[in-house]
Amino acid sequence: MDLRFSAQDEDFRRELRAWLDANLPAEMREPAFWAGKGSDESFELRREWEARKAAAGFAGIQWPTEYGGRGGTPTMKAIYDEEMARAAAPSTVNPLGLAFLAPTVMAIGTDAQKRDIIRPLLHCETIWCQGFSEPGAGSDLAAISMRAEPQGEEYLLNGQKIWTTNALHGDKIFTMARTGTPDGGKRHAGISMLLVDMHQLGVEARPLKQMTGASEFGEVFFTDATCPKTDVLGGEGNGWATAMLLLSFERGSSAIAQYTEFRRMWDEVVGVAARMDRDGRPAVEDPVLRQELAAALIELECLKYHSWHVLTQTSNGRDLGFEASMTKIMWSETFRRVSDVYEKVVGTAFAVPKPRPDLSLEELTTTAMWSRSCTIWGGSQQVQRTVVAERVLGLPR
Ligand SMILES: Cc1cc2nc3c(=O)[nH]c(=O)nc-3n(C[C@H](O)[C@H](O)[C@H](O)COP(=O)(O)OP(=O)(O)OC[C@H]3O[C@@H](n4cnc5c(N)ncnc54)[C@H](O)[C@@H]3O)c2cc1C
Repeated sequence: MDLRFSAQDEDFRRELRAWLDANLPAEMREPAFWAGKGSDESFELRREWEARKAAAGFAGIQWPTEYGGRGGTPTMKAIYDEEMARAAAPSTVNPLGLAFLAPTVMAIGTDAQKRDIIRPLLHCETIWCQGFSEPGAGSDLAAISMRAEPQGEEYLLNGQKIWTTNALHGDKIFTMARTGTPDGGKRHAGISMLLVDMHQLGVEARPLKQMTGASEFGEVFFTDATCPKTDVLGGEGNGWATAMLLLSFERGSSAIAQYTEFRRMWDEVVGVAARMDRDGRPAVEDPVLRQELAAALIELECLKYHSWHVLTQTSNGRDLGFEASMTKIMWSETFRRVSDVYEKVVGTAFAVPKPRPDLSLEELTTTAMWSRSCTIWGGSQQVQRTVVAERVLGLPR
């Protein structure tokens, strides 16, 4: 087993590091820089950063060059993710467009959709939202009730979506709506995926406040909103198949970036524990806490080796399919484990977004709070475990 990267991969790493050193301002790598910004300002700064990366050829690492990508390998993408996490570069503002929509459009979009959607998205000129979840349809996506009635060359949309990431900053939304009736009780039939302009009178986004105080997601209401019939992705009535294809692009992603990020968080937690007092001694000397820190580190190391295994599989051209659910379970639970230890170190201060100015805990607290949601979005743990049980292990339903 050879766990080294190839010479070409290491060349790419050097090139990327040099570019990051020259282009990512030191202050943007500091949590305090972001902690002081409002969500609109930080969104715009991150959007500019993303556009700069794309202009320099450091976006769409694995995408074909005809779409403005770099035509790279899975290992180059893993190195890219790892270096971005290591440099504490801002996270992407267009995750749903980049990870889900773009590869789906490349696979099944019309020529016009490929031309109009992919490049603007890569350069962050268009921010995309994902409008799947509804108040009565989260894990059970086939229960959606939003309707799209055909009217001439358009659809008329009425309904509501919820938990929409970037709802307040979105330009467009790919969303699921009923364009027909369920066929003979088949709930998956009669659904279409529509690409809808959010800057129109019939679309209203309202913020939902999270426990961090931010509103990264919101509710989106459609009242006689319109969508041209040419903006159906994958054909009318094929929404279920289109959605399954789109969600499959979540798979195959390695967890190397997550490992790097959570490992940095673990190091910070150890640093905080060394500075915090517990019964007259540094908290880090508490034997129970030490065991929990060690347990979290063991999970982190398991995640690292698992992510290398995944990378080996994808580099050899193997589609991970449902095994990807294991990666999602592992990284989201490891994240929670690290943040649970942090919670034990700081105690009740964990629940306060600006806990102790003397320890600069704000960003760490916000990250730890965010970890709570990762076991829900993108498919909850319970649903992922069912997938692993049935589709990977072949257990009976
Ligand atoms: C931070 C965040 C961002 C999000 N962003 C988006 C977004 O941009 N776009 C979007 O469309 N959605 C988004 N979501 C919604 C997310 O995808 C849903 O929350 C998720 O799919 C779960 O659906 P639900 O909340 O309706 O819970 P439900 O589906 O009602 O589930 C409630 C509980 O029941 C369990 N459960 C449900 N069905 C089963 C089953 N068959 N077997 C076992 N257990 C089951 C679930 O695991 C869960 O614990 C986001 C959510 C969060 C937290």
